Amino acid sequence: MIQDIYPHKLKNQYDPEKKPAEDSIIMAFRGNEVLMASDENSAVFPRLGDFTMDKERKASLQYLISIDETDCFMLAADAFDPESEAGIGDLEIPEGFSFRDTGKLRRMDIMPRENLFMEFTGHQIYRWYRDNRFCGTCGSRTEHSRTERAVVCTHCGRTIYPRILPAVIVGVTNGDRILMTKYADRPLAFYALIAGFTEIGETLEETVQREVMEEVGLKVKNIRYYKSQPWGVVDDILMGFYCDVDGDDTIRIDRHELKEGQWFRREDVQLQPTDFSLTNEMMREFKEGRQ
Ligand SMILES: [Zn+2]
Repeated sequence: MIQDIYPHKLKNQYDPEKKPAEDSIIMAFRGNEVLMASDENSAVFPRLGDFTMDKERKASLQYLISIDETDCFMLAADAFDPESEAGIGDLEIPEGFSFRDTGKLRRMDIMPRENLFMEFTGHQIYRWYRDNRFCGTCGSRTEHSRTERAVVCTHCGRTIYPRILPAVIVGVTNGDRILMTKYADRPLAFYALIAGFTEIGETLEETVQREVMEEVGLKVKNIRYYKSQPWGVVDDILMGFYCDVDGDDTIRIDRHELKEGQWFRREDVQLQPTDFSLTNEMMREFKEGRQ
């Protein structure tokens, strides 16, 4: 899975003492793009030493995460934009670097796994900072906390912490067969498992039961936890469960959500093109007889 980067270690706890060094990785995001030097075979993050930055700019870099002993800092999104509100958008993009689509880079699978996971996690933190520039309670500007991973409202003082959305992935089994589906509204050409977000006031087990009933009209029993995955694309933490169909195994698919849903024998399970996702690992576990 994307987070399986052993022996490397990603550290994402906030550390207010971190200061950027010349070899610190600089992540500069612009919407769904990230600044990298890349070609068909590789993609490399810029380091602080690649930029010409004054003291003030260096001090404004936001600490994000570390991978092993290398720290990673975020550059303000408008650093290259001369029209920016803060009037600091005069930084030059270092030679050889350009903004690349994050989704495309992931699909190309050209980065070492630890760098891919770092980009994945950094992008999620960037989006959280970006989307919390204003306080949802009083509408005033927020500023980055200097002591923890939080933003603080400059007017009412409210502290806002990162939010992660719980969601489930469900492998519904029926003896020697597993239920696989294809989404209706996504260009994904490959099979996946049932998935969905937890509603307010719901347990994870209830999410499993509800999502399976909504998407394919089946009752399930014997719900058992498998593993989890931080899947930053939609700010969620995925929790994988297997369960058994309970009674009638006739599939009635919800055409709004799915275009296909059927039982597959172990040997017929088709895996996804990359091994990034918990979904794919759960399908492989079943295919190879471990579940
Ligand atoms: Zn406020």
